Amino acid sequence: MNIIFLGPPGAGKGTQAAYLEDKLGVPKLSTGDMLREATQSGSKLGQHVKQVMEAGQLVADDIMIDLIRDRIRQQDCADGFILDGFPRTMAQAEALDEMLTQERVAIDHVLKLEVNADALVERISGRFACGDCGEGYHDMHKKPTQEGVCDRCGGTEFTRRADDSAETVRKRLDGYREMTAPLMPYYESKALLRHVDGMLPIAEVTSQINQIVGKKAA
Ligand code: AMP
Repeated sequence: MNIIFLGPPGAGKGTQAAYLEDKLGVPKLSTGDMLREATQSGSKLGQHVKQVMEAGQLVADDIMIDLIRDRIRQQDCADGFILDGFPRTMAQAEALDEMLTQERVAIDHVLKLEVNADALVERISGRFACGDCGEGYHDMHKKPTQEGVCDRCGGTEFTRRADDSAETVRKRLDGYREMTAPLMPYYESKALLRHVDGMLPIAEVTSQINQIVGKKAA
């Protein structure tokens, strides 16, 4: 099954995509994670990407399209994948369609997480992740069961993203409205868009998503 998650930064895409990865047994492809990994390499591309991300801007379409094209051709995507953070522009959506036509696969569902704009900054500024396994947490909505210890791997080091500061978040939200929001009518016109109430508690959002993916695409 091939799934796309859409929604603004802080909507819960990464959290829900991780649950769905376990449920469906197909990999979650997070372009944000892939780029953050690239920034660790110290390569020229990594340094460029780091600057763009920290400024709250979008990385160029050609870089992103090549990144995803290489990734979905890998063997572990043969039975499907979950896209978290891609596509983010119309050019990316159209390039993805082309790639999938070539690979003779189709998108089953585009899950749009609907979140009240006021909630986003609070959600983003409270989030942190395990430095070892990447499991996501939140100061208010999802604390580790034992304070300071990751539920998933027992790690004790946690990190906060450099681009989660209030000013950068505002720029990322502007970018979302301008560049990503036009994808909604695009996928609506293909009868792929499914609306999910992202304001509900995490487990209820997961249950809505399970109901959708449990059904065959329209
Ligand atoms: P995310 O982890 O999805 O919030 O992405 C973090 C940052 O990575 C974004 O603010 C962008 O700078 C960059 N990024 C991630 N995915 C994309 C994409 N599909 N197109 C352009 N930039 C991206």
